Amino acid sequence: MNRNIAQIINKAIDGGELTGLELSRLLTVDYLSEEAYMIQYAARKISAAAAGGKAEVHAQVGINAGPCPKNCHFCSFAPVNKIFEAEKVYSLEEIIDKALVFEADGANAIYLMATATYGLPAYLAVARAVRTALKPETPLVGNVDDFAEDGAIALKQAGFAGVYHVLRMGEGRVTNIAPGTRLRTIAAARQAGLLVGTCVEPVGPEHTVEEIVEKTMLIKEIRPVHAGSGRRINIPGSPLEPYGALTQARQAHIIAAVKLAFGYSVPGHCGGDYGIAAMAGVNLSWAESGSNPRDTQANTVIGGTVASRRETFQQAGWEMVEGPSVLFSPG
Ligand code: SF4
Repeated sequence: MNRNIAQIINKAIDGGELTGLELSRLLTVDYLSEEAYMIQYAARKISAAAAGGKAEVHAQVGINAGPCPKNCHFCSFAPVNKIFEAEKVYSLEEIIDKALVFEADGANAIYLMATATYGLPAYLAVARAVRTALKPETPLVGNVDDFAEDGAIALKQAGFAGVYHVLRMGEGRVTNIAPGTRLRTIAAARQAGLLVGTCVEPVGPEHTVEEIVEKTMLIKEIRPVHAGSGRRINIPGSPLEPYGALTQARQAHIIAAVKLAFGYSVPGHCGGDYGIAAMAGVNLSWAESGSNPRDTQANTVIGGTVASRRETFQQAGWEMVEGPSVLFSPG
């Protein structure tokens, strides 16, 4: 066992704040080495301690599918990927039905995801109707285009407990969104009292350790309720497809390393819906219905169900939160 790596792992277990250099050392460890397994063990231990030993399954309803001008190369809605030529918008009845099914299935929180073409006023109208239909204690979480302070306040007033928002890998290079815009949205959300979930994603084999470290350190400053690291699922024909994709085993190593940097103050850890990830510290994953930026079908077939996501956690030895999300509950 490399003593330097062991010292960094122990520092994280003891609650110490890792530096960017220390995280980069963890990330450069061979993912099949003894050190890598110790990093995964430590990540699981910290994750369990931070979340009371329990995992959560949230559920996202994608409310529209179609070409999105932000053209994020990793997304099926990017025109460059030529997957969706026409707009598909789910009716309010369909959206409410999907949300209620997820709630009845035991999802701990419900998300509404829209592309950047879906205007905020229309999104808020849908959200208010969904909010009314759900049990009052079920947290509603937004996943929408960038917004300013007034948008954040409107989301809060519409009944959202929080938002999922990410400064993505390659933001501004493989997307039409300036990194500062993403960060200003997150700041506006926090200012309005919305809880923030975020992630180091979507990671591909071409990404450098430096960029993973940069994104991780930025997230620490955001103080999210959950964070993690997700791998890119390639859209067939995407400009990013030639780079390939990370295996679950390689991604689990990144998931674990960033958890040691996030530490105990970030209770939720996300980034993979598979068993290796759950063993390496992931305690939050999503079921999905409707549109999904990783899927080429307008009604996702890869999104998974609440039952399948719970099963993955239970097989990895996690207890489950029953009822409303602890991560997105006030206080
Ligand atoms: S990731 Fe979001 S903003 Fe980017 S193209 Fe897809 S829907 Fe649009």
